[in-house]
Amino acid sequence: MIIDGKLISLQIQDEIAIEVNKIKSNGGKLPHLAAILVGNDGASETYVAAKVKACEKVGFKSTLVRMPSTTTEQELLEKVNELNADADLDGYIVQLPIPKHINEHKIIEAIAPEKDVDGFHAQNVGRMALNLPTYLPATPYGIMQLLERYKIETVGKHCVVIGRSHIVGSPMSILMARNTNPGNCTVTLCHSRTPDLKEFTLKADILIVALGKPEFVTADMVKEGVVIIDVGITRVTSDKTKTGFKLVGDVKYDEVAAKASYITPVPGGVGPMTIASLLKNTLKASRREVYF
Ligand code: NAD
Repeated sequence: MIIDGKLISLQIQDEIAIEVNKIKSNGGKLPHLAAILVGNDGASETYVAAKVKACEKVGFKSTLVRMPSTTTEQELLEKVNELNADADLDGYIVQLPIPKHINEHKIIEAIAPEKDVDGFHAQNVGRMALNLPTYLPATPYGIMQLLERYKIETVGKHCVVIGRSHIVGSPMSILMARNTNPGNCTVTLCHSRTPDLKEFTLKADILIVALGKPEFVTADMVKEGVVIIDVGITRVTSDKTKTGFKLVGDVKYDEVAAKASYITPVPGGVGPMTIASLLKNTLKASRREVYF
């Protein structure tokens, strides 16, 4: 079965819009999300524009703070402090990557944890590991939503995660091992230093792939009935599209889909869930559900 992330993402956005209408009719303050964009990286511009558009669609207030690529670390820290102190603002993100001359960790740690709707602050990562209320990072949160809404059985299953980035693989391994539903898996976290990857992927009931190598996972690497969550997105050239490009996942879709019980396509699987999760976190922030 194909896991339709686009559909679930639209459902979540409809649910959020209903909540915003309730807030409006009760005369409450609209949830307010801001994004800081430093420089003009093409992909970042696209992502931030999509986030602003999604805010408008569900009825949130949104603010885009643009800063030039020459911004110093001190200037960005000052902007972060300004947003921390802005009482009207419920949550904000600093769109990554930021220019290399700025220390990313320093910036993330300066964000007030109660406004860190990307869930990247060490305090929120710690709360996630301890299973305390927090903002889950958007992509892992989106994957958890997909597993939940498709009622995919995870208890006691063997979940193999490929990739250990701080934004996808590592948090996914923590979430799938927690005593929650979805969760309660036995988890194996594989990465670039794993000697025989296939030995592990063949044992996976649930395989979460986030390494950024197009069509890396092939049919011979998975067992019959596996659940496949393909996080990878790579733009490759194609002579079959008008633009000359197409998006490809980390899984060789057609041959792996033939063996899988569930699979996320690329595009239209995990990708659309990321924005829906950010909106969910912002609603949580506006309701002071995590920090109060
Ligand atoms: P990253 O580059 O930060 O990390 C890749 C990880 O894969 C590393 O931990 C590395 O150890 C591991 N790896 C690399 N080669 C390997 C190999 N041969 N065998 C086993 N492990 C290997 O990547 P990331 O930021 O986690 O992103 C991964 C992919 O997911 C990218 O294609 C990215 O575009 C995509 N992504 C999608 C979304 C979304 O919204 N759908 C969000 C974030 C990232």
